Amino acid sequence: MIGLIKGPSTHKGYSEDNSLMDSFGRRASKLRISVTDRCNFRCDFCMPLNPVWLPHSEILTYEEITRITKILVNLGIRKVRLSGGEPLVRKDLEILVNMLNKIYEIESISMTTNGALLEEKARVLKDNGLKSVTISLHSLKPELYDSITRTKNMFYKVLRGIEEAKRVGLKVKINCVVTRNCNDNEVLDFAKLAYEGNINVRFIEYMPFDGNKLWDIEKVVSGDEILERIKSHYPLVKLPREHGSTAENYAFKDGSKGGIGIISSITKPFCKDCDRIRLKADGKIVPCLFSNDEYDLKPLLRGGASDEEIAQFIKESFWKKSEGVEAMIKKNLVLKHIRSMYTIGG
Ligand code: SAM
Ligand code: SF4
Repeated sequence: MIGLIKGPSTHKGYSEDNSLMDSFGRRASKLRISVTDRCNFRCDFCMPLNPVWLPHSEILTYEEITRITKILVNLGIRKVRLSGGEPLVRKDLEILVNMLNKIYEIESISMTTNGALLEEKARVLKDNGLKSVTISLHSLKPELYDSITRTKNMFYKVLRGIEEAKRVGLKVKINCVVTRNCNDNEVLDFAKLAYEGNINVRFIEYMPFDGNKLWDIEKVVSGDEILERIKSHYPLVKLPREHGSTAENYAFKDGSKGGIGIISSITKPFCKDCDRIRLKADGKIVPCLFSNDEYDLKPLLRGGASDEEIAQFIKESFWKKSEGVEAMIKKNLVLKHIRSMYTIGG
């Protein structure tokens, strides 16, 4: 694991080789692209009831996203995840998947979605190169699901989307944000879904990135607590952690091909070997989810800059990536309400 060792004091403020490296020596190999800030849901831990959307003219075109991705691939990016807002509300997303899939060096294109439009879109996305999909599902009780997502009668539609994604051969995972006194009594039900459905369920700690300012430390159910509850019913085997992974992954001891992931972003963050860079829908580069710092690429992109100039701007931006959550906590920096999750894509 790469330690948080400051780069040499003589550094130029960017990686001097052809990679994306920050001042702590961490290199980026994964890109998360938010293709829109818009969403057809209003999950209470994410979205304000009356969001103000970015104007269409501010949103990057598929050509602009592809150009930036190619530049990033030349700097070492190998995996791309599409997110939002809700990525499937962006028209013809498969066109973007197809364009990205033509970039030879990209090893995988995946997507995080609320699943509402997946039933219709899974096949065409798969045909254009999508490899895997993570569907957010926060309750197995239809009424509670509607209340958390502030939608009506979407639960069964999302389940059909999950089935369709599996049917067309996409790799499928489930994301569940656990909130105290809301859905935390469903942890075992989700574990059962993982076990019996041979599916990977990832439990995420509630992060202070909600558009409603409802977050409170009391509402966070720690990854350890979630794990203990699951282990009391299902013996688990811990899997080796992949470099840069935000999840601790577990397999079931007996038989099931399903799995459990625990994402303890608040109580046990993995910032020391973070290998991500994020691109917002309006062309801002975000080196760290937990920092307000963002760097606007659009003036360069739309102002005639060369690929080399854009690459240099991204390298300089990424160099300034913040140390991460552990360091912020040590310095007593407040983590609360940095930005709403829908503006960045998780
Ligand atoms: N709309 C898509 C979805 O819901 O999957 C993609 C975007 S969403 C912002 C990405 C992920 O962030 C989802 O899994 C969502 O549940 C998660 N998320 C949103 N707000 C969160 C919060 N305050 N804490 C933890 N996870 C959150
Ligand atoms: Fe929309 Fe996803 Fe945020 Fe829910 S978590 S409001 S689905 S962007």
